[in-house]
Amino acid sequence: MIDPQALSDTLAGLGQPTFRSRQVYEALTRGLVTDFDQVTSLPRGLRRELAARLRPLTLEPRETRAASRGAARKTLFATGDGLPVEAVLLPAGRRTTVCVSSQVGCAVGCAFCASGAAGLRRDLTAEEMVDQVLHCARELRPAGKQVTNVVFMGMGEPFLNYDETLRACRLLNDPHGFALAARAISVSTAGVAPGIRRFAAESLQANLAVSLHAATDELRDRLVPLNRRYPLDALFSACAEYVAARRRKLLFEYVVLAGVNDGDGQVRALVRRLRRPLYHLNLIAYNEAGGEFVRPRAPELAALRDKLVQAGVSCTLRRSAGGEIGAACGQLALRSLDEEREERQPDGRRLSSRRRPRA
Ligand code: SAH
Ligand code: SF4
Repeated sequence: MIDPQALSDTLAGLGQPTFRSRQVYEALTRGLVTDFDQVTSLPRGLRRELAARLRPLTLEPRETRAASRGAARKTLFATGDGLPVEAVLLPAGRRTTVCVSSQVGCAVGCAFCASGAAGLRRDLTAEEMVDQVLHCARELRPAGKQVTNVVFMGMGEPFLNYDETLRACRLLNDPHGFALAARAISVSTAGVAPGIRRFAAESLQANLAVSLHAATDELRDRLVPLNRRYPLDALFSACAEYVAARRRKLLFEYVVLAGVNDGDGQVRALVRRLRRPLYHLNLIAYNEAGGEFVRPRAPELAALRDKLVQAGVSCTLRRSAGGEIGAACGQLALRSLDEEREERQPDGRRLSSRRRPRA
């Protein structure tokens, strides 16, 4: 993916008519080309001139891993400056979803998530986010399949990289380009209240998910450190604004940590906060990510859901795929490209970078 402005500036600099810019942009997005030589509608000389000036790919795919059961696939990329980025392709029924990373690492440091373990390295650009999707679309093409949904639920906190994340959403949605419906795009935030307000006011009608994980400030302060900056009252007032502005469903994600956030106190607080029209709660079983937390068993999870539903909360359990390839929610870790290779050794050695939870 190339910044459309840089593309049109370069073509203008080469004295080309404006239609060339759209031609190349369409070839990159709809045509999924990775090389100017594949843009056969361009004169040969121009293809060479462009290749000397612009790079059509911002990320280099290094390795793809597929889960043996299910069809989750994780791709590890290297950025131009050698940083690791991961994206996950999740086919499920008629949907094929790409889970995109918005940052290299994450500054939020939630207690149960591997992505924040090493802190933030840098923000990704919109082009680097879009390239994750285009790569997955290329992988699907031989089977005649397409990317139907994109979720910003990989590594990073999208609203701490707001402008580039929104630019990526708009590029994906652009009817002249990749043309993915806004409703097929979802952004997940750990609760950056000003970001939620800004998102509510955007003309782009993409979906929003809020990672809640606790319904009391005392517990949420420990699990999601960002709560100290935007406590629950501030968070929910932004959420109310979103729902009032959009009049559409707002999804809350809740990673269930056995014995930590599944007790009756949290259930009561959840009911008080979430028994509202258009609020929906998704319970996610904690995936092993190197911390000391325990995954709840299926019957416990179902019992929690039943309690919440009986109390009037719209609530479902979410299946999470890709655990065996370290591709499930919270398992995308900031590790070096070398470590990733090491992890693949047949001797079954585990990830080297583990950490203790901060809570
Ligand atoms: N930073 C954003 C988006 C990326 S995380 C956010 O936090 O919302 C996407 C989802 O995966 C979040 O709901 C996150 O809380 C969840 N998650 C993180 N670690 C997890 C784990 N170990 N098991 C299950 N889900 C996890
Ligand atoms: Fe960052 Fe989201 Fe992981 Fe929290 S759950 S550390 S916000 S990626």
